[in-house]
Amino acid sequence: MSACIFCKIIKGEIPSFKLIETKFSYSFLDIQPTAEAHCLVIPKHHGAKLHNIPDEYLADILPVVKKLTKVLELDVNNTPEGEGYNVLQNNGRIAHQEVDHVHFHLIPKKDSKTGLGVEWPAQETNFEKLGQLHKQLQSRLAEYDEKL
Ligand code: 5GP
Ligand code: ZN
Repeated sequence: MSACIFCKIIKGEIPSFKLIETKFSYSFLDIQPTAEAHCLVIPKHHGAKLHNIPDEYLADILPVVKKLTKVLELDVNNTPEGEGYNVLQNNGRIAHQEVDHVHFHLIPKKDSKTGLGVEWPAQETNFEKLGQLHKQLQSRLAEYDEKL
């Protein structure tokens, strides 16, 4: 996609602070970081949302994210209470996506002020409702698999 800023970054038409590049993925520093070393990892395939991206590109991305966690030493202080990180991938404006080329954020979480803040409107557990939904989804999954 010629107008897409992330496609331009992959092609080197827009500069970026590049980190890891593979056959399928490209990673670089976010220019408006929410925490120090906030990175983005993107597929070298233009697609707005996760479901638009071929599997071979998606399969390459998480190992790149994992390598970055080690390079950023986010694996060092990894006790439950220690420093952490979030991996975030937004799809659609309502879900906070601003750039319409799939991207995975790797965001160090070192304190409560920087990095990702999460709103999590958890509902009370309702086993009856969950059971009904589960049945519906199982039959949809069976239909989906039959179509493949
Ligand atoms: P989204 O809200 O779509 O999940 O995140 C888009 C991210 O891309 C934001 O964190 C924003 O700072 C980053 N971003 C937008 N334009 C550029 C750019 O030109 N270069 C880089 N490195 N990051 C960008
Ligand atoms: Zn693109």
